[in-house]
Amino acid sequence: MTPVGAKTTPLGEKLVRRIEALGPITVSDYMAACLGDPEHGYYMTREPFGAAGDFITAPEVSQMFGELIGLWAVECWRRMGRPSEFVLAEIGPGRGTLMADALRAARIEPAFLAAARIHLVETSERLRAVQRETLDGHAIEWLERVDDLPDGPAILLANEFFDALPIRQFLRTDEGWAERMVGLRDGALAFGLRPGARIDGADERAPAGATLEVATISAAIMATLADRLRRFGGALLAIDYGHAGEGFGDTLQAVRGHRFDDPLAHPGEADLTVHVDFAALSRVATAQGARPSPIWTQGEFLLALGLLERAGRLGAGKDPATQDAIRAAVERLAGPEAMGTLFKVLCVTGGDLAVPPFG
Ligand code: SAH
Repeated sequence: MTPVGAKTTPLGEKLVRRIEALGPITVSDYMAACLGDPEHGYYMTREPFGAAGDFITAPEVSQMFGELIGLWAVECWRRMGRPSEFVLAEIGPGRGTLMADALRAARIEPAFLAAARIHLVETSERLRAVQRETLDGHAIEWLERVDDLPDGPAILLANEFFDALPIRQFLRTDEGWAERMVGLRDGALAFGLRPGARIDGADERAPAGATLEVATISAAIMATLADRLRRFGGALLAIDYGHAGEGFGDTLQAVRGHRFDDPLAHPGEADLTVHVDFAALSRVATAQGARPSPIWTQGEFLLALGLLERAGRLGAGKDPATQDAIRAAVERLAGPEAMGTLFKVLCVTGGDLAVPPFG
């Protein structure tokens, strides 16, 4: 067999050398390198979004997505008692499209815009430059980490952010849990197992062959955000490809040029994601004294926010081609065959704040 992984990408070669020198790495380290390597990482070097990229996210599908979230944020702010200053932050903003659309829709409430201190949490310098362009004209502060967000009440947005955070994977064998590692076979990157893993809280009755994913970084970020919501008030809206914690499974996937790819085939040149375990995130929020909403599907959420009405207004008086495009966008965002069911929404609030459409 010809080694395929070894020579395919510059990052692949770098990882082969690292593994030759130091031994196999965890799936988490592999994901972190593929997405965040300063030299070759996917988000550092590529233009992932849109038709020419590798995938399309909801804000890139239609302006209606960000607009509805902008109006949702305005309503949250009203229910928070209209603070004269608050943190409006997006974590992992991509091209900045969601925030731009949200701010445009929020013009119906000038006091909201005057009170908003806009912060973007983004690790990629390249994407920061794109965001600067998209959000030209707005006063914005960029941050490296969620821990750097200033104190105070906040409305926090995270769309397709948690799915980009590295996870560890464990496989149940007849001898207990083993950690899935990325090592070398015939000089090429290959998955292997490191036996004897100990995982806090893992189900020891899991059947042989079960995969367990542990999202330590996601949990730490959720803990930080939930803790600040409990202390200062406000709401976090997290939307992602994910599940409500049912069962076990390997959800690591690579997408390149709108197609699924072998996760080891093109390190740094394919997007690597995992499905977000929303039940686990909810538990973290509760443990920090914040209040998680029920987990809704993106379809339910957008329809409850008035997607159909917004589409009707946007399409009114337009030519048939534009109206068709708007209908297609609605279907893509909320339809069960598209993003409507696969994507989930979790809202976390501090104190006794109840926000629409959950309460
Ligand atoms: N929300 C956008 C982009 C999703 S892609 C959209 O829906 O279109 C994931 C985004 O998270 C990218 O902007 C990526 O650079 C950023 N990101 C990845 N890891 C991050 C981290 N640890 N901290 C902050 N941003 C991160």
